[in-house]
Amino acid sequence: MPLPAELVNRVRSANALVVLSGAGLSADSGLATFRGTARSLWHNRRPEELATPAALANDPELVWRWHRERRRLALAATPNRAHAAIVELAAMVNRCVTITQNVDGLLQRAGATDVIEFHGNLFLDRCSRTNSECVPERAEPTAAVPHCTQCGAALRPGVVWFGEMIDSAVLEHAVAACDSTDGVLVVGTSATVAPANALASVARRAGAWIAEINPAETTISRSVDHVLRGQAGDILPAIADLLDA
Ligand code: NAD
Repeated sequence: MPLPAELVNRVRSANALVVLSGAGLSADSGLATFRGTARSLWHNRRPEELATPAALANDPELVWRWHRERRRLALAATPNRAHAAIVELAAMVNRCVTITQNVDGLLQRAGATDVIEFHGNLFLDRCSRTNSECVPERAEPTAAVPHCTQCGAALRPGVVWFGEMIDSAVLEHAVAACDSTDGVLVVGTSATVAPANALASVARRAGAWIAEINPAETTISRSVDHVLRGQAGDILPAIADLLDA
């Protein structure tokens, strides 16, 4: 698919860039998205049984089995061409912040440095009572449900669960990046999860252009400046190659 010359020029002349990514960025690494396909994580499952504080209280073993499986899959995956292209693009602009809804750590493993993990990190453990960070599964590595060594409460994965608020410092950092960017590349997100789906409009209100990279239409497709229909692993490297030429 030919890339719009206007977009290439906009990325080329950008001083600051935001990449706002979702599960589709890691789809080419073999990690399932949440919605949209029969392989999606929630297909045949109810999120409230697996990713809520109530789920942890009701059936901590089930919650931990599921999250350990997600960790295993994320560790077995490798960063794909789209992750690598984001690292390349970031090196070409003065300031590039990647705000990711992904919790898989693949961007960092690809070498990305300025990453805001909007929904946390799958490999971090937190105390379910105090929310303080704990060394992953240090307490009882073989226990079905690990517990905090300080207070004995069950640990939980350091990801934002359904119905939970975004950490205020993380939200502020993300809004500040969107407020001061020249453009946003929105990659592989269905834009259905709030407040992440409002970040592009924060940037738009501040005068930035928005480009969406996604094989499917999303809730924001009609309000962006450029729609690039296709896989992130094809389109992002093509943008990086054109800029490098
Ligand atoms: P989503 O599942 O709602 O949407 C995924 C989007 O990616 C869809 O719009 C789909 O069309 C698009 N997509 C699929 N393959 C693509 C590809 N190759 N290239 C570009 N786009 C592609 O995911 P979301 O919008 O990120 O939001 C839901 C939540 O899912 C987030 O909270 C996130 O934390 C969580 N999540 C994370 C991971 C991960 O860390 N890898 C995986 C699944 C879900």
